[in-house]
This record gives sequence, structure tokens and C-alpha cells, in this order.
Amino acid sequence: MSQKSIIGCLLGTAVGDSLGLPYEGLSCQKINRKFPNINQQKLFFNKGMISDDTEHICMIAQSLIVSAGEEKSFINAFKWRLKWWLLLLPAGVGFATLRSILKLWLGFSPNKSGVFSAGNGSAMRSSILGVCYGDNIAKLQRLVHLSSRITHRDPKAEYGAFAVALAGYFSSQDHDIIPQNYYENLKQYLPNSAEEFLILINHACDSAEKGETGAEFAQNLGLNKGISGYVFHTVPVVIQVWLRHQNNYEIAIQEIIKLGGDTDTTAAILGGIIGAKVGKNGIPQIWLNNLLDYPRSINWIEKVGDRLSLVCETGKSNFAVKLPWYFLIVRNLIFLIIILGHGFARLLFFL
Ligand SMILES: [Mg+2]
Repeated sequence: MSQKSIIGCLLGTAVGDSLGLPYEGLSCQKINRKFPNINQQKLFFNKGMISDDTEHICMIAQSLIVSAGEEKSFINAFKWRLKWWLLLLPAGVGFATLRSILKLWLGFSPNKSGVFSAGNGSAMRSSILGVCYGDNIAKLQRLVHLSSRITHRDPKAEYGAFAVALAGYFSSQDHDIIPQNYYENLKQYLPNSAEEFLILINHACDSAEKGETGAEFAQNLGLNKGISGYVFHTVPVVIQVWLRHQNNYEIAIQEIIKLGGDTDTTAAILGGIIGAKVGKNGIPQIWLNNLLDYPRSINWIEKVGDRLSLVCETGKSNFAVKLPWYFLIVRNLIFLIIILGHGFARLLFFL
């Protein structure tokens, strides 16, 4: 796991998230009609901000830093980060994640706090686990299990999260992966009960090998209007687009956003995977420059990636990178106002 891959994975997630966020919930037809060029962030004055997807992957990264991947202390660190994250009133929180964090506050253990949901919550934060621990599959499986189960108890969520983690790992390697090899590897590590998911991933790999577009593949899955937040929809589409554009962050992100639906999450997951391959230098500079957020800025995220690389290299835990929580309250309030403003603008212009 190189420093380039770790930083690239975190920044790739953040930038994808910030680009996809303004289009969340729009159909692909509407995006193609109104925004034919996804060439810059558009949340406010061509600047972008991050949402829960990036916040979660950063919390995972910080939990890995303080635990060095030791399972008990990893999940304990992540549990507390989730609990405080919710107290600071984030604008975007999935329903399953909200309910499970409330259960954590009520005293449920991380093993029991998850609710039965197959949403994207665990898939959106797992690419970094693969980048850091993909060379030890047994450990990776346990970390993905812990990280998923704390919010999502449906095994489907864990299959999706593991598929993303494995993609992150393969992407962090020097060579490109042949689609069918990815499928064969994944099949080896998932249980028999994941058959339905594996069929979908097999289709995604076939489709990528045939050179179908992401839109054609989404259509075959019946996702004509957009990619839903169901993990069996999101992950196969992300995998299909990744396998066709393993070295081209910009094209891949533009393509997946144009498919519509849960665009911040699809772009965040895909961005994390491809970021692990191309590193910071493979992400368009203008997209990095226009991500305007604080305290989780590009610099801060890079610092987290830096420290996590050191932890992975030495196997020794370290202090988490400081995050001034008092700024987060103000930031979350501003973010909420911007998101509400965005919602009103949509009503005015689209209805
Ligand atoms: Mg989000």
C-alpha cells in the first residue's frame, strides 16, 4: 500500500463526492438535458463541498490510524467517531446510518447497532480498507465486516462493501486488472449466499469486457432513470465503469454522474477506487482547487492519508489528525443552508 494510493483513494473519494453532490436524485435524462458538461463542481459558484461519503471514509482512515488495524480498537474508534459525527448535525445522513448511530448512543454494541438495510453506507467507506489491507484478505474481510455491521446488518451491504474494498486493492496495484479476473477473485472470497450479487458483478465484468457504456449496462439492470442507493444497484455499476476506465479518473467520474440517481455516492465510491490507482496527480487540478471545505479540506485529507501511510508502513498506531469540532458545527450549518438553497433552486428551475 503506497502513500500515493492511500492519499489518492481519500482525495478521489472527496472530489467525486463534491462533483456528484449537486446532481443527487436527478434522473440521467435530466442531467443530460440540463448539464451536458460535468466539467466542474457546481454546488455554489462553481465550488464544491463534501458530504457524508467523504466524512465516513475519513473516519475510517482516522480509526485505522489510531488502531493500526487492530480490530477491537479499530471498531471502538470508529464507533466514537460515528457518535460524535451525528451530534454535530451532518446534513446528509442515510436513514439506516441515523438509526444505527442512535442505537450506539443508547448503548448497543457495534455488533448489534446495525439495522437491516442494504443501503450504500458501508460500501461508500470501504475502498480505503482494501487499499491498506488488501494484501491480507482474512484481515480485510474482518475489517469490512466490522465496518459494515455497525450500521448495516443486511449481509448484502457487506458483500457490496467487500467488492469495493477488493476493487480498491486491485486498483492500488501497478498493473490493470482484467474484468473476469476481478470477478474470479471476488467469487473466491464471498460466501455462497452472495450468489445473486456475484451474478450482477459477473454481468458488470462481461459488460465492461464487451465495451458497453455505463448507460447501456445501467439500462440492462433496469436503472433507466438513475442509480439507486441500493447496494446491489450501486456497486455493479461502479465496478463496470471502473473496469473500463481504470486509469482515467476524469472520464470515469463524468460518466457515472451522468447516469443520475445517487450521484454523490456513486462518484465518491468510484473516485476512491480510481484515485488509488492514479494518485493525487491523476485527479484534475481544477477539481482539487475548487473543493472548498473546512476543516476537512484537501490539505487536511492529504494529511490524514500521509499519516495513515506511515501507520500502514510501520504497523504502529499514531495520533489521529486534529479536526477542530467547533468549526464543524459552523461548517455543517453553512452546508445545510447551501443544500437547502440548492433544493429551492431546483424547485424554481425544474418545476
Ligand atoms: Mg452523500
